[in-house]
Amino acid sequence: MTGVSDKTILITGASSGIGEATVRELAKEGARLFIGARRADRLKALAEELGDHVAWSELDVTRADAFEAFADAAAARFGRIDALVNNAGVMPLSLLAALKRDEWTRMIDVNIYGVLNGIAAVLPRFIAQKSGHVVNVASIGAHLVVPSAAVYCGTKYAVWAITEGLRQEHDDVRATIISPGVVATELGNDITDAEVAAGLRVWRQKSLTPDAIARAIRYALEQPEGVDVNEVIVRPTAAG
Ligand code: NDP
Repeated sequence: MTGVSDKTILITGASSGIGEATVRELAKEGARLFIGARRADRLKALAEELGDHVAWSELDVTRADAFEAFADAAAARFGRIDALVNNAGVMPLSLLAALKRDEWTRMIDVNIYGVLNGIAAVLPRFIAQKSGHVVNVASIGAHLVVPSAAVYCGTKYAVWAITEGLRQEHDDVRATIISPGVVATELGNDITDAEVAAGLRVWRQKSLTPDAIARAIRYALEQPEGVDVNEVIVRPTAAG
Protein backbone atom coordinates (compact mmCIF):
# COMPACT_ATOMS: atom_id res chain seq x y z
CA MET A 1 0.00 0.00 0.00
CA THR A 2 1.63 3.27 -1.13
CA GLY A 3 0.39 6.78 -0.39
CA VAL A 4 -2.13 7.74 2.27
CA SER A 5 -5.35 8.01 0.27
CA ASP A 6 -6.55 4.53 1.20
CA LYS A 7 -5.43 4.68 4.84
CA THR A 8 -7.25 5.34 8.11
CA ILE A 9 -5.01 7.44 10.33
CA LEU A 10 -5.58 8.51 13.95
CA ILE A 11 -4.06 11.86 14.99
CA THR A 12 -3.84 13.19 18.56
CA GLY A 13 -3.36 16.82 19.49
CA ALA A 14 -5.27 17.75 16.35
CA SER A 15 -6.83 20.92 17.76
CA SER A 16 -3.83 23.19 17.04
CA GLY A 17 -0.28 23.55 15.74
CA ILE A 18 1.45 20.54 14.20
CA GLY A 19 -1.54 18.23 14.74
CA GLU A 20 -3.96 20.54 12.95
CA ALA A 21 -1.47 21.10 10.11
CA THR A 22 -1.05 17.32 9.77
CA VAL A 23 -4.80 16.85 9.54
CA ARG A 24 -4.93 19.43 6.73
CA GLU A 25 -1.93 17.90 4.91
CA LEU A 26 -3.30 14.34 5.03
CA ALA A 27 -6.88 15.39 4.27
CA LYS A 28 -5.60 17.00 1.05
CA GLU A 29 -4.26 13.55 0.06
CA GLY A 30 -7.64 11.91 0.69
CA ALA A 31 -6.76 9.96 3.86
CA ARG A 32 -9.53 8.92 6.27
CA LEU A 33 -8.74 10.69 9.52
CA PHE A 34 -9.96 10.20 13.08
CA ILE A 35 -8.78 13.15 15.13
CA GLY A 36 -8.64 13.80 18.87
CA ALA A 37 -7.78 16.39 21.52
CA ARG A 38 -9.57 17.92 24.50
CA ARG A 39 -10.88 21.08 22.79
CA ALA A 40 -13.91 19.63 21.04
CA ASP A 41 -15.02 22.95 19.52
CA ARG A 42 -11.82 23.17 17.47
CA LEU A 43 -12.00 19.54 16.32
CA LYS A 44 -15.62 19.91 15.29
CA ALA A 45 -14.89 23.04 13.25
CA LEU A 46 -11.90 21.40 11.54
CA ALA A 47 -13.82 18.22 10.68
CA GLU A 48 -16.78 20.20 9.36
CA GLU A 49 -14.46 22.29 7.20
CA LEU A 50 -12.64 19.27 5.73
CA GLY A 51 -15.58 16.93 5.06
CA ASP A 52 -16.81 13.38 5.66
CA HIS A 53 -13.47 11.64 5.59
CA VAL A 54 -12.47 13.49 8.78
CA ALA A 55 -14.19 12.36 12.00
CA TRP A 56 -13.44 13.57 15.51
CA SER A 57 -13.80 12.61 19.13
CA GLU A 58 -12.79 14.35 22.33
CA LEU A 59 -9.70 12.63 23.77
CA ASP A 60 -7.51 13.03 26.85
CA VAL A 61 -4.45 10.94 25.96
CA THR A 62 -3.52 10.50 29.62
CA ARG A 63 -6.55 8.21 30.08
CA ALA A 64 -5.86 4.69 28.80
CA ASP A 65 -9.58 3.80 28.73
CA ALA A 66 -10.41 6.93 26.73
CA PHE A 67 -7.68 6.11 24.19
CA GLU A 68 -9.06 2.54 23.80
CA ALA A 69 -12.53 3.99 23.20
CA PHE A 70 -11.07 6.48 20.70
CA ALA A 71 -9.44 3.66 18.69
CA ASP A 72 -12.63 1.56 18.86
CA ALA A 73 -14.67 4.51 17.58
CA ALA A 74 -12.22 5.05 14.70
CA ALA A 75 -12.35 1.36 13.72
CA ALA A 76 -16.17 1.40 13.93
CA ARG A 77 -16.35 4.49 11.72
CA PHE A 78 -13.80 3.55 9.06
CA GLY A 79 -13.50 -0.26 9.31
CA ARG A 80 -9.81 -0.47 10.19
CA ILE A 81 -6.83 1.50 11.52
CA ASP A 82 -3.65 1.78 9.48
CA ALA A 83 -1.66 4.34 11.45
CA LEU A 84 -1.55 6.40 14.62
CA VAL A 85 0.18 9.78 14.92
CA ASN A 86 0.93 10.37 18.61
CA ASN A 87 1.36 14.13 18.42
CA ALA A 88 -0.27 15.52 21.60
CA GLY A 89 2.25 17.15 23.92
CA VAL A 90 2.79 19.87 26.51
CA MET A 91 5.85 21.95 27.38
CA PRO A 92 5.55 23.99 30.60
CA LEU A 93 9.30 24.65 30.85
CA SER A 94 10.96 25.62 34.15
CA LEU A 95 14.26 25.27 35.98
CA LEU A 96 14.49 22.15 38.14
CA ALA A 97 15.16 24.27 41.24
CA ALA A 98 11.69 25.81 40.89
CA LEU A 99 10.33 22.38 41.92
CA LYS A 100 7.20 22.67 39.78
CA ARG A 101 6.20 19.10 40.53
CA ASP A 102 2.69 19.45 39.07
CA GLU A 103 4.14 20.57 35.75
CA TRP A 104 6.65 17.70 35.75
CA THR A 105 3.76 15.28 36.32
CA ARG A 106 1.68 16.82 33.53
CA MET A 107 4.55 16.55 31.04
CA ILE A 108 5.25 12.93 31.98
CA ASP A 109 1.53 12.07 31.83
CA VAL A 110 0.84 13.65 28.43
CA ASN A 111 4.17 13.23 26.66
CA ILE A 112 5.09 9.71 27.87
CA TYR A 113 1.93 7.97 29.13
CA GLY A 114 -0.07 9.60 26.32
CA VAL A 115 2.22 7.93 23.77
CA LEU A 116 2.14 4.58 25.60
CA ASN A 117 -1.65 4.71 25.88
CA GLY A 118 -1.79 5.29 22.12
CA ILE A 119 0.52 2.36 21.41
CA ALA A 120 -1.56 0.13 23.71
CA ALA A 121 -4.77 1.16 21.93
CA VAL A 122 -3.54 0.12 18.47
CA LEU A 123 -0.75 -2.45 18.85
CA PRO A 124 -2.94 -5.57 19.33
CA ARG A 125 -4.81 -4.64 16.11
CA PHE A 126 -1.56 -4.01 14.24
CA ILE A 127 -0.15 -7.37 15.35
CA ALA A 128 -3.37 -9.16 14.34
CA GLN A 129 -3.50 -7.51 10.90
CA LYS A 130 0.29 -7.89 10.46
CA SER A 131 0.68 -4.23 9.56
CA GLY A 132 0.40 -0.80 11.08
CA HIS A 133 2.39 2.36 11.60
CA VAL A 134 3.00 4.39 14.77
CA VAL A 135 4.39 7.89 14.22
CA ASN A 136 5.51 9.54 17.44
CA VAL A 137 6.24 13.26 17.53
CA ALA A 138 9.33 13.62 19.74
CA SER A 139 11.51 16.73 19.43
CA ILE A 140 15.02 17.95 18.80
CA GLY A 141 14.83 17.84 22.61
CA ALA A 142 15.12 14.05 22.24
CA HIS A 143 18.73 14.66 21.17
CA LEU A 144 19.91 17.61 23.25
CA VAL A 145 19.07 19.21 26.58
CA VAL A 146 18.94 22.92 27.37
CA PRO A 147 18.44 24.65 30.74
CA SER A 148 14.75 24.84 31.79
CA ALA A 149 13.94 21.87 29.55
CA ALA A 150 15.32 18.99 31.64
CA VAL A 151 11.96 17.32 32.24
CA TYR A 152 10.52 18.14 28.82
CA CYS A 153 13.64 16.74 27.13
CA GLY A 154 13.48 13.75 29.48
CA THR A 155 9.99 12.98 28.19
CA LYS A 156 11.14 13.32 24.59
CA TYR A 157 14.21 11.10 25.13
CA ALA A 158 11.67 8.60 26.46
CA VAL A 159 9.49 8.95 23.35
CA TRP A 160 12.59 8.33 21.23
CA ALA A 161 13.47 5.17 23.22
CA ILE A 162 9.90 3.84 23.23
CA THR A 163 9.61 4.28 19.45
CA GLU A 164 12.94 2.59 18.82
CA GLY A 165 11.93 -0.27 21.14
CA LEU A 166 8.63 -0.69 19.27
CA ARG A 167 10.52 -0.86 15.97
CA GLN A 168 12.89 -3.51 17.28
CA GLU A 169 10.12 -5.69 18.69
CA HIS A 170 7.92 -5.82 15.55
CA ASP A 171 8.95 -6.64 11.99
CA ASP A 172 5.57 -5.81 10.50
CA VAL A 173 4.72 -2.69 12.52
CA ARG A 174 6.41 0.49 11.35
CA ALA A 175 7.65 3.02 13.91
CA THR A 176 8.69 6.57 13.08
CA ILE A 177 10.13 9.32 15.24
CA ILE A 178 9.48 12.87 14.05
CA SER A 179 11.84 15.32 15.76
CA PRO A 180 10.98 18.96 15.08
CA GLY A 181 13.19 21.90 15.95
CA VAL A 182 11.44 25.10 17.00
CA VAL A 183 7.97 25.48 15.45
CA ALA A 184 5.69 28.49 15.92
CA THR A 185 2.64 27.02 17.70
CA GLU A 186 0.76 27.39 20.99
CA LEU A 187 3.25 25.04 22.70
CA GLY A 188 4.72 26.65 25.80
CA ASN A 189 1.98 29.27 26.12
CA ASP A 190 1.40 27.82 29.58
CA ILE A 191 4.97 28.44 30.84
CA THR A 192 4.57 29.96 34.30
CA ASP A 193 8.12 31.35 34.71
CA ALA A 194 8.33 34.79 33.00
CA GLU A 195 12.07 34.57 32.32
CA VAL A 196 11.80 31.11 30.75
CA ALA A 197 8.82 32.28 28.66
CA ALA A 198 10.91 35.23 27.41
CA GLY A 199 13.69 32.78 26.46
CA LEU A 200 11.22 30.76 24.37
CA ARG A 201 10.18 33.93 22.53
CA VAL A 202 13.85 34.45 21.57
CA TRP A 203 14.17 30.83 20.28
CA ARG A 204 10.98 31.35 18.28
CA GLN A 205 12.59 34.18 16.31
CA LYS A 206 13.95 31.40 14.10
CA SER A 207 11.15 28.89 13.73
CA LEU A 208 9.33 26.62 11.32
CA THR A 209 5.64 26.81 10.52
CA PRO A 210 3.67 23.67 11.46
CA ASP A 211 3.13 22.62 7.83
CA ALA A 212 6.88 21.79 7.58
CA ILE A 213 6.38 19.06 10.19
CA ALA A 214 3.09 17.94 8.63
CA ARG A 215 4.95 17.28 5.36
CA ALA A 216 7.56 15.18 7.20
CA ILE A 217 4.77 13.13 8.81
CA ARG A 218 3.10 12.65 5.41
CA TYR A 219 6.43 11.54 3.91
CA ALA A 220 6.79 8.81 6.55
CA LEU A 221 3.17 7.67 6.18
CA GLU A 222 3.08 7.53 2.38
CA GLN A 223 5.99 5.08 1.97
CA PRO A 224 5.23 1.60 0.63
CA GLU A 225 4.73 -1.24 3.13
CA GLY A 226 8.36 -2.41 3.00
CA VAL A 227 9.81 1.00 3.91
CA ASP A 228 10.06 2.19 7.51
CA VAL A 229 11.26 5.77 7.93
CA ASN A 230 12.84 5.54 11.38
CA GLU A 231 13.37 9.22 12.17
CA VAL A 232 13.04 12.62 10.56
CA ILE A 233 14.69 15.66 12.16
CA VAL A 234 13.46 19.00 10.82
CA ARG A 235 15.03 22.31 11.89
CA PRO A 236 14.55 25.89 10.72
CA THR A 237 17.16 27.85 8.82
CA ALA A 238 17.75 31.58 9.21
CA ALA A 239 15.10 32.08 6.52
CA GLY A 240 12.49 30.33 8.70
P1 NDP B 1 0.30 22.90 20.38
O1 NDP B 1 0.24 23.40 21.77
O2 NDP B 1 -0.18 23.79 19.28
O3 NDP B 1 -0.46 21.52 20.26
C1 NDP B 1 -0.45 20.56 21.29
C2 NDP B 1 -1.64 19.66 21.09
O4 NDP B 1 -1.64 18.67 22.12
C3 NDP B 1 -2.96 20.41 21.18
O5 NDP B 1 -3.78 20.00 20.12
C4 NDP B 1 -3.55 19.95 22.51
O6 NDP B 1 -4.96 19.87 22.40
C5 NDP B 1 -2.95 18.56 22.62
N1 NDP B 1 -2.97 18.05 23.99
C6 NDP B 1 -2.33 18.54 25.08
N2 NDP B 1 -2.65 17.82 26.17
C7 NDP B 1 -3.49 16.84 25.74
C8 NDP B 1 -4.16 15.76 26.38
N3 NDP B 1 -4.04 15.53 27.70
N4 NDP B 1 -4.94 14.95 25.63
C9 NDP B 1 -5.08 15.16 24.31
N5 NDP B 1 -4.47 16.15 23.64
C10 NDP B 1 -3.70 16.98 24.35
O7 NDP B 1 1.82 22.50 20.13
P2 NDP B 1 2.60 21.79 18.93
O8 NDP B 1 1.73 21.61 17.77
O9 NDP B 1 3.87 22.50 18.79
O10 NDP B 1 2.92 20.37 19.60
C11 NDP B 1 2.69 19.13 18.96
C12 NDP B 1 3.81 18.18 19.31
O11 NDP B 1 5.04 18.66 18.75
C13 NDP B 1 4.08 18.03 20.81
O12 NDP B 1 4.31 16.68 21.11
C14 NDP B 1 5.35 18.84 21.02
O13 NDP B 1 6.09 18.41 22.13
C15 NDP B 1 6.06 18.57 19.72
N6 NDP B 1 7.12 19.54 19.38
C16 NDP B 1 6.82 20.86 19.18
C17 NDP B 1 7.83 21.76 18.90
C18 NDP B 1 7.59 23.23 18.77
O14 NDP B 1 8.56 24.00 18.74
N7 NDP B 1 6.33 23.69 18.67
C19 NDP B 1 9.23 21.32 18.76
C20 NDP B 1 9.42 19.93 18.96
C21 NDP B 1 8.39 19.07 19.25
P3 NDP B 1 -6.01 20.19 23.56
O15 NDP B 1 -5.42 21.26 24.43
O16 NDP B 1 -7.23 20.62 22.80
O17 NDP B 1 -6.19 18.88 24.26
